Amino acid sequence: MQAFFRKPKKFVTLTSKEQRVDVPVGLMTKCPKCKLIQYTKQLEANLRVCTCGYHHPLTAHERFAQLFDEGTITYFDLPAVKADPLQFQDYPEKLKGDQVRTGLEEAIVCGVGRVNGHPLVACVMDARFRMGSMGAAVGAAIAEAIRYATKERLPVTIFSASGGARMQEGMVSLMQMAKSSLFLKQHSDAGLLYISCMTHPTTGGVSASFAMLGDFNIAEPGALIGFAGRRIIEQTIREKLPEDFQTSEFLLQAGQLDDVVSRHDLKAYYSRILMMHSEGNNHATI
Ligand SMILES: [Zn+2]
Repeated sequence: MQAFFRKPKKFVTLTSKEQRVDVPVGLMTKCPKCKLIQYTKQLEANLRVCTCGYHHPLTAHERFAQLFDEGTITYFDLPAVKADPLQFQDYPEKLKGDQVRTGLEEAIVCGVGRVNGHPLVACVMDARFRMGSMGAAVGAAIAEAIRYATKERLPVTIFSASGGARMQEGMVSLMQMAKSSLFLKQHSDAGLLYISCMTHPTTGGVSASFAMLGDFNIAEPGALIGFAGRRIIEQTIREKLPEDFQTSEFLLQAGQLDDVVSRHDLKAYYSRILMMHSEGNNHATI
């Protein structure tokens, strides 16, 4: 019994010591997985992938810069929507706070550009903004980008990074699941390609709608992907879940993903799929 009480004590001390390591904000970045502290510039040069393989989160603009050819990106304006449909307490202030902190209008950035010369429309979620949650603005931005892609007969990709539906928009937020799925169906019916790339984390309503509707459903290594959280499922089914449950690798093994692609290979991967699916492509010459 004594040993039982002693063990956690030692563990807690170790954890708090680790947390006490002060890292200068911006200059250095600490890896949450292996605890390595390295120069942010060095990390950026390695596409924000740690030497241990951990994929640090990217901002939406960093993602665009990594995937698209330099100088080819045109960003779309976000469609105007009613900002606070339910007049939820403190919500406008929270939105304003995130806008100032991130420099973004909303939790998504959309645009069109070229990947090794191949045109592509992209919607990239940014988890720094309200945890990448999906409200009316995110739904409208995705719908507009897909509508544009369908009209111009272009392939589309969505990089998901989201905590799910936006709590402060209630039912309006849930409606975005159906809305984005509808526009993707029209895009698909037109015979066009959609690549979904799930990044850490892709959860809730986003995982239950556009994130899983790709012709290709791929993910970055180690990303958390799931609908409900581990604790809720464990409490419901009264069973302990495996350690790697809801990770990209687990989902790939279970047949829920087509591939897990390292950030270093992502551009070449996209380029290959886009080349194979480009209209008028003569497959005989490949
Ligand atoms: Zn690391």
